[in-house]
Amino acid sequence: MPELPEVETTRRGLEPHALGRRILAVAVHEPRLRWPVRPDLPGKVAGQRIISTGRRAKYLLIGLERGTLLLHLGMSGSLRVLPADTPRRAHDHVDLLLESGRTLRFNDPRRFGSLHYTSGDPRQHPLLAHLAPEPLEAEFGREYLWRVTRGRRAAIKQVLMNSRLVVGVGNIYASEALFRARIRPRRSARSLTRAEAARLARAIRAVLELAIRVGGTTLRDYVGADGSPGDFRRKLYVYERAGKPCRACGSAIRQITQLSRSTYYCPACQK
Ligand SMILES: [Zn+2]
Repeated sequence: MPELPEVETTRRGLEPHALGRRILAVAVHEPRLRWPVRPDLPGKVAGQRIISTGRRAKYLLIGLERGTLLLHLGMSGSLRVLPADTPRRAHDHVDLLLESGRTLRFNDPRRFGSLHYTSGDPRQHPLLAHLAPEPLEAEFGREYLWRVTRGRRAAIKQVLMNSRLVVGVGNIYASEALFRARIRPRRSARSLTRAEAARLARAIRAVLELAIRVGGTTLRDYVGADGSPGDFRRKLYVYERAGKPCRACGSAIRQITQLSRSTYYCPACQK
């Protein structure tokens, strides 16, 4: 599933092809995404120039002259930059045809992605207005993480994956950040000390920044905007390494299940 680093990688890959380009037309081949693409979207978007690219949580924000496109890659979506006459493949649902002769083509086999247009402030859009702080921005940090873990009985890993509390830390990055912060994933959130909350805030930032730097994690159905797979997998300490020696201490990495998702940790390094 594309997570925050994959979406940010897509944004960065897309930007040089998109900025300043006019969208000549929007071709919606399949409107039945997670929410139906509104039939008036192409008419509102056509003719507008792309003036910015941004991201909020896992939403790509394509800033136009009079509004913003909000694109979510869902479980299996990807965006590619292609010559406009490239034949469509299965599950290519939307084309944003650019005056440069290229198209931004959205592919999503499982159709959990979405495409919206708003002429208002995108951060106030109902899909974005109630999201937790961005982990890579200043408002997220040791104080924030300390505050949201107070009084919470739930396991810290579950708190990290609760998008109302923390956005963008999916399953892989939650396990990796907890390893770096030396905290066991099953610990109750409220048991974290101030020092641990600070370590964890730093670890989340470090893991996401590393993943962005190397272009996201290679997953079955993810490729970056330029079609090149990510390279984060070789940097993983615990994720999908059950039984293998910890890269820090040599102990066998353990795998457990939390809310039906696999969690990985080192029983020696993490307390
Ligand atoms: Zn270890």
